[in-house]
Amino acid sequence: AKTGGGHLVVYSAGLDEQAEAAERLGADLRHSLTDGDFHVVYQPIVELADARTVAYEALVRWVHPVRGFVSPADFIPIAEDNGLIVELGEWIMRTACRQLADWQRDRPDAPSYISVNVSARQLSEPGFAEVVTGILRECGLEPRALLVEVTETAIFGGGVAIEAVEALHRAGVSIALDDFGTGHSSLGLLRTVPVDVLKVDKSFVDEITGTGRAVIVDALIHVSNGLGLRAVAEGIETAEQAGYLRELGYRYGQGYFFGKPARAEDSAAQIVPAVGELLDQGRGHQAP
Ligand code: C2E
Ligand code: MG
Ligand code: MG
Ligand code: MG
Repeated sequence: AKTGGGHLVVYSAGLDEQAEAAERLGADLRHSLTDGDFHVVYQPIVELADARTVAYEALVRWVHPVRGFVSPADFIPIAEDNGLIVELGEWIMRTACRQLADWQRDRPDAPSYISVNVSARQLSEPGFAEVVTGILRECGLEPRALLVEVTETAIFGGGVAIEAVEALHRAGVSIALDDFGTGHSSLGLLRTVPVDVLKVDKSFVDEITGTGRAVIVDALIHVSNGLGLRAVAEGIETAEQAGYLRELGYRYGQGYFFGKPARAEDSAAQIVPAVGELLDQGRGHQAP
């Protein structure tokens, strides 16, 4: 075993500090769950043809009592490690489903489904599918009103996680592969797991540049169409990207261009009045 050496000592002290910070944050997560420091924001998923909102993705937000906003990219992994994601995830699922039920009751233009991210740890929790279908019943929602987003990595290992996905799918819940193309990508996964939607990762949408070209988004729309799946392009920030994706055959998209994640009370107002204008900016981008 390698011991000694100034570098190693400094490095492991750094790791210790990191582990301690993570542990503190993990304990704070627990308190915040009882104190109500979490909320859920909603980002529109639109039809690229007319920018009509067809769904919302629910995204959790944490306002730490001292540090303020902490990114889910930082705290979700910690909540997975200490197991709190199970309780937090159930709270997110219930909050999002209730919100959709409220919208469907109050808004004539209510979206038809809500998209909720679910982590590997949640999928491997015994009885997860039953908890989800219980929440749907409690909210008076049809199973098809829910899309569960899982990553390739979360289900790559097979086993219980896949069983949970299958159970949800049998119950009528739709399944999306999130950040598609960035994980343990195996196209074979699309044959063994019941998937309805491919969420094509932002990193591939980013490749659409001034020349209006992008190889991966082009390939993935063919895969998606060939397998009879719906494709949603993530992280669309410009009219040019929206226009190019639409021309490639993408029907659905999501990104700051169409709307940032917002509190429920603000997301209705966000349904862009100037939609036609937005889309016009994206037309004819390929010329000359
Ligand atoms: P994700 O599920 O792929 O969510 C999309 C992320 O991209 C969100 O970041 C969203 O705010 C951001 N985004 C959307 N459009 C754009 C855009 O046009 N430009 C840029 N730069 N970013 C855009 P967020 O909310 O920070 O979430 C990060 C990740 O954390 C999520 O990625 C998801 O993996 C995880 N996460 C967020 N909320 C939840 C949750 O409720 N449960 C679980 N298990 N994971 C969650
Ligand atoms: Mg997602
Ligand atoms: Mg994603
Ligand atoms: Mg992503």
